[in-house]
Amino acid sequence: MKKYDYIVIGGGSGGIASANRAGMYGAKVLLIEGSELGGTCVNVGCVPKKIMWHASDIMETIERDASSFGIYAKVENFNFKELVEKREAYIDFLHGAYERGLDSNNVERIKGYAKFLDNHTVEVNNEKFTASNILIATGGYASPLEIPGGEYAIDSNGFFELTEAPKHMIVIGAGYIASEIAGVIHGLGSKVSWAYRKELPLRNFDKMLSENLVKIYNDNGIETLPNYVPEKIEKSGNQYTVTFENGQTLIGDSVLFAGGRNPNTGNLGLENTDVKLDERGFVEVDKFQNTSAEGVYAVGDVIGKIDLTPVAIAAGRRLSERLFNGKSDLYLDYDLIPTVMFTHPPIATIGISEEAAIEKYGDQIKIYKSTFTPLYFGLNDYKQKCNMKLVCLGKEEKIIGLHAIGLGVDEMLQGFAVAIKMGATKSDFDNTVAIHPTGSEEFVTMR
Ligand code: FAD
Ligand code: NDP
Repeated sequence: MKKYDYIVIGGGSGGIASANRAGMYGAKVLLIEGSELGGTCVNVGCVPKKIMWHASDIMETIERDASSFGIYAKVENFNFKELVEKREAYIDFLHGAYERGLDSNNVERIKGYAKFLDNHTVEVNNEKFTASNILIATGGYASPLEIPGGEYAIDSNGFFELTEAPKHMIVIGAGYIASEIAGVIHGLGSKVSWAYRKELPLRNFDKMLSENLVKIYNDNGIETLPNYVPEKIEKSGNQYTVTFENGQTLIGDSVLFAGGRNPNTGNLGLENTDVKLDERGFVEVDKFQNTSAEGVYAVGDVIGKIDLTPVAIAAGRRLSERLFNGKSDLYLDYDLIPTVMFTHPPIATIGISEEAAIEKYGDQIKIYKSTFTPLYFGLNDYKQKCNMKLVCLGKEEKIIGLHAIGLGVDEMLQGFAVAIKMGATKSDFDNTVAIHPTGSEEFVTMR
């Protein structure tokens, strides 16, 4: 049986990052991946999504905004298939880059699906491997839509398999993926009806974000449908009829469902180990990413905490620093993690929402807000607003939440997140001279 210092199961964001970091410190590492290197993010997540988002943005610029600058451009031929082919070729290039990175850190690879035989032994393609340290970084998959005909709805993987834009896409769900894909595919020319179960989508975020997203989507021609609980889907030819519990029906040639993710723990042989799962099947870990089995760890989507690529990467790297570089106290702090939704326009957010802050701290909370029309829309009849908010706590007005929706906020957040993570107060923001004319200057000039 082949013996390693570290076996990593899953070659996605968390697994690759952790394997590389361990290899850098001279550990003998085996990375096991059943599919393509890069996992969800590279193959069917962040990367193809952001490429489609850029394409959609370019369309919007040409069709909606260019003429306001006296530039009369027209999209004469949009070749969806070509976009998809180029996107996939780029992803293939990334596979090569990952291979080279792993080679440079001497990380051995095997293609196949791993199964635990015990806490320290795994089997892949009928071969057994052992290590004193094993990382579970197997990610997750889209939750299915459990209604009659639910199988007709595609998930985000299915979205990336499309080679032509649907004429009318019905989007069901209320989170990151539904809000992003609704915007992307609408920008690329499809009619979009976005149905969500409650009054608003993105309910875990500050209300300013969801309310303005719905308004902007409506202004731009996306049909937003609150209180639409899906009941069944029926297929007739290439049309789908979705019936909702409120008695309404929608007919389209594509239905997309995005309602959260399930963990890839079902076929891992975890019953042969001491690894405990929670009631939804996610791996339970402590703050050091230790599972309940000694020498077995888990990072990324499989722990069901914060499903973001940089979170999986940061946890994976810290774990390897701890295991193979003597940094015995190192762990990832899951507080104040910034995140962006690549909607049209984007949403950027870190920390607590106004609603949650008031519930938690009452009148110790002070809110600062700004609403303005970015200069980009100055000459346009269409005036898309940018909305920003700071949630401040106590006398010193420590910033515990920063939220924004509008042009360019995706690229504004990272720097502000550093300041907030360092404990910035409102007066620290006030003491910083603005950059003009930008949107981000609003964050340091709010009164
Ligand atoms: P994954 O990247 O899913 O990797 C797990 C890997 O394990 C997979 O390659 C899988 O094949 C492999 N595997 C599973 N079981 C086994 C086994 N038994 N043996 C061997 N291999 C196995 N995050 C962001 O930060 N920004 C974004 O813009 C963003 N956009 C997204 C868009 C979409 C549509 C989706 C679905 C997700 C997006 N995410 C985004 C989330 C991000 O992709 C995930 O949080 C991230 O990929 C999680 O990394 P991971 O290493 O935990 O798992
Ligand atoms: P989310 O967890 O973001 O949102 C899912 C929402 O869909 C639920 O909160 C629920 O909202 C609604 N929903 C659940 N079940 C049903 C149902 N049966 N019918 C109708 N609506 C339902 O999940 P996503 O799948 O959108 O994304 C998964 C994760 O991937 C995200 O949480 C995020 O971490 C990551 N991701 C990150 C991105 C980024 O960083 N930009 C982009 C894409 C994904 P409600 O209860 O209000 O109805």
